[in-house]
Amino acid sequence: MPELSELPVTALSGVGPALAEKLERLSITTVQDLLFLLPLRYEDRTRVVPIGSVRPGQRCVVEGEIQLTEVVYRRRRMLASTLSDGTGWLTMRLFHFSRSQQAALARGTQLRCFGEVRGIPGKLEMIHPEYKRIGPAGGMPLEETLTPVYPGTEGIQQGRLRRLTDIALELLERNPLTDWLGPGMGTASMRLPSLDAAIRQLHRPPLDASLEQLGSGRHPAQRRLAFEELLAHQLSLRQLRARAQLDDAPALEVKGPLYTRFLKALPFTLTGAQQRVLREIGADIGKPVPMLRLLQGDVGSGKTVVAAAAALCAVDSGMQAALMAPTELLADQHLQTLTGWLEPLGVKLAWLSSSARASERKSVLAALASGEAQIAVGTHALFQEGVEFRDLALAIVDEQHRFGVHQRLRLREKGLASGTAPHQLIMSATPIPRTLAMTAYADLDVSVIDERPPGRKPVTTAVLPAARRPELIERVAAACSSGRQAYWVCPLIEESETLARQAAEDMAASLAEALPELSVGLVHGRMRGAQKERVMAAFKRGECDLLVATTVIEVGVDVANATLMVIENAETLGLAQLHQLRGRVGRGSGESSCILLYEPPLSATARRRLEVMRETDDGFEVARQDLELRGPGEVLGTRQTGLMQLRVADLLRDIDLLPEVQKRADAAMREQPDSVEPLIRRWIGAAERFGQV
Ligand code: ADP
Ligand code: MG
Repeated sequence: MPELSELPVTALSGVGPALAEKLERLSITTVQDLLFLLPLRYEDRTRVVPIGSVRPGQRCVVEGEIQLTEVVYRRRRMLASTLSDGTGWLTMRLFHFSRSQQAALARGTQLRCFGEVRGIPGKLEMIHPEYKRIGPAGGMPLEETLTPVYPGTEGIQQGRLRRLTDIALELLERNPLTDWLGPGMGTASMRLPSLDAAIRQLHRPPLDASLEQLGSGRHPAQRRLAFEELLAHQLSLRQLRARAQLDDAPALEVKGPLYTRFLKALPFTLTGAQQRVLREIGADIGKPVPMLRLLQGDVGSGKTVVAAAAALCAVDSGMQAALMAPTELLADQHLQTLTGWLEPLGVKLAWLSSSARASERKSVLAALASGEAQIAVGTHALFQEGVEFRDLALAIVDEQHRFGVHQRLRLREKGLASGTAPHQLIMSATPIPRTLAMTAYADLDVSVIDERPPGRKPVTTAVLPAARRPELIERVAAACSSGRQAYWVCPLIEESETLARQAAEDMAASLAEALPELSVGLVHGRMRGAQKERVMAAFKRGECDLLVATTVIEVGVDVANATLMVIENAETLGLAQLHQLRGRVGRGSGESSCILLYEPPLSATARRRLEVMRETDDGFEVARQDLELRGPGEVLGTRQTGLMQLRVADLLRDIDLLPEVQKRADAAMREQPDSVEPLIRRWIGAAERFGQV
């Protein structure tokens, strides 16, 4: 008998071509795949629940005597039978029923039903439950194990999946799966069951298994599988990395003339953290192996200057660098910053976005291809088809959370024209805890800027109901009359850019009216690049006192003289976004504040988010709380929906497993290289494995 990982499902009796095709839609082709189709949840059909204690939403077995059966019309015709067991009553409703069914449900009949309880207490009902009359020989027998409910697919009934898994479990009895973790590899010390035992327990949990534990994913059998799944993902990311590092990369000159002159000319000295990460980057790009590095640093920690210095290493080596930002506004901002720093040094910059005019685009493309442009700044447009670099040595991506692993893999190709792959530096302002970073970014090395530029004072944050807006208008007036500047942010409340623009326009108009002595500017996402630029430039030069904006200013805008920010409808924004926005103030040495306005009433999570904002100004802390409130799937964004589609594990819930997963991954690569492929194959679909979408 072949191993179950090789045995096709079609070898099971009852699996013909039609069923095999449906199973394939669930990515099941082998018996092992079937064993890894784990139940979504469990039903308890092992005991009868008193009607008086059932709750809406519960799926359970109840028993009682029919008090009344009648045909009623409520929008549609149905048969309603009222059931009582002395503790309460419940109505069973059937929309499809025969005359004989009706007759069999006469008053006085004893009935046992299984189904989902609906309605409200006192008016409970079950719609089309499974039911059986309890005769002298009893009703339908109660189950001996909890009943698994599998992830459904069209055309495969639960009963069918249960029978199939029954057969697969029987085969498992005689043909154990390879337990790559093995008893000697630490799971025993973590008191987790063996692989086969875990699978068996999850498909057919014994009576004494805790439904609550299973429901929350904390059952030891789930932990055993979660561990293996996390290990498989870890190995898969490390493999991607190992493959990427088979490419040749240009070994760049670090601390060359431009680099040195640049740092010398800066109006400030780098923080210790900036110097450290530059050393880490320098050590990487000096080698002929592609750098794959994530640079984490809170908003305002000074990532741009690090990026610029790294880019100069490429230029010093006679090659090109590219800096990509997620939005045009941010790309623009970067261009301005870099132009200010680098033009005096004679470095040639180019700018490319999808809104570039055809003629402009053409000349930029030519400059990139000829190498005349030494540093390219732009949006995604930089890495699209048709853009060719003469010799791209370093690709820098700002704000990593909008940029997935798969897109990153495509960067590689942009350098290959010159025969080498570019070094990659990914910058993220969403700092996440170290253990999590090592897991989610196992394909990257991580550098952290954990220090702010000197002289920064924390931003004071206040949370106020929108009714107190008038006081704020006075605050803005006071701040601006003392020479400071302010932001007034109107986020997208409805999913409509038009409405947001209108809200921002209305707000700008009423603020201009209330504050006639101030110059009020407006930016929103629908404005043309040049128009936006003009407003932003005026704000930067201090000619505009108050900038009203939609969340387009979320990332990257850098005006140190702005010390006050008001955010409307702050309750609608997520923590990461609020923190990013707030990062626009507190960039200079002045005292800064951020006022979060909300429309009552607040939901519990919105209240919690605003509290977090008020309590802390530290990006790591905000990210930690964000993870708790939203879960890592949301926080890590594309990465999670791309490579890390976890079936059993949950990065946050299982965070305590991560250090051991790291150790095990090291050991597996070193001592058990044969286990790597099968483990990845067992857990990760082909598309994800090869880094495609
Ligand atoms: P972020 O990490 O959010 O991208 P920026 O690179 O935009 O941060 O830096 C924020 C501001 O801090 C910029 O005005 C930048 O010039 C300034 N800055 C960066 N490093 C230092 C430093 N070592 N000392 C003083 N100011 C700095
Ligand atoms: Mg930045």
